[in-house]
Amino acid sequence: MTTESIIRMEAVNKWYGEFQVLTGIDLSVRQGERIVICGPSGSGKSTLIRCINRLETVQKGRIVVDGIDLTAGGKNVDAVRAEVGMVFQQFNLFPHLTILENCTLAPMRSRGMTKAQAEEVAMKYLTRVRIPEQASKYPSQLSGGQQQRVAIARALCMSPKIMLFDEPTSALDPEMVKEVLDTMIGLAEDGMTMLCVTHEMGFARSVADRVIFMADGKIVEQAPPQEFFGNPKDERTRQFLGQIL
Ligand code: ADP
Ligand code: MG
Repeated sequence: MTTESIIRMEAVNKWYGEFQVLTGIDLSVRQGERIVICGPSGSGKSTLIRCINRLETVQKGRIVVDGIDLTAGGKNVDAVRAEVGMVFQQFNLFPHLTILENCTLAPMRSRGMTKAQAEEVAMKYLTRVRIPEQASKYPSQLSGGQQQRVAIARALCMSPKIMLFDEPTSALDPEMVKEVLDTMIGLAEDGMTMLCVTHEMGFARSVADRVIFMADGKIVEQAPPQEFFGNPKDERTRQFLGQIL
């Protein structure tokens, strides 16, 4: 891990109409750092990470991702999307495309790969998430855990520098949570910069360099897991941990 920040958010404020969803967010993430974000529903976790690949824009403050200033105008969207992969709670696979086609679409369209090149890359990552044999099936033929692993493989096919996860295991049946977390642990071990919104605190303890707690659109507290879980400082953090642990 280097000391260089690959993500910098400075004094970020965002509103949905009159409602302020993010307030004074300052966040720097080093290359290779693994961050877990937790907090009550509605606290702004999804909004915060969606700002990092510009799925959301902000009204005030500055966001720089790998040298790309997202707050400098509209033209940097493609550049940042190519560097930041995202995995959602609801998989978001294209239902009418096969698993392989789901994985080759973006690399062919925006990386200029040939079909053969894209398929080779796709098979490499489908193998890595341990479902190469599902390549010719459609999403509806796979279990939730398998679909989420395809979503991870699909993101990796774009060679992202950063991976964002928004509650990737929340929609899964309990028996499938581990296979997805294991895939994420593998990515972390390979040095991927990761921001994961999750309430899987076992994952946070074993993988995170830093755990961030959000409430009411603010970062209330952040610390390495041992300190975060062992000695939470803010009353809201203690209350939250008391509810989920
Ligand atoms: P979390 O992921 O922590 O549950 P979100 O970032 O999804 O929180 O949402 C934070 C708040 O912003 C919630 O009160 C939510 O209702 C509101 N919100 C989220 N998206 C929108 C939107 N597109 N328009 C208006 N309000 C929104
Ligand atoms: Mg959310």
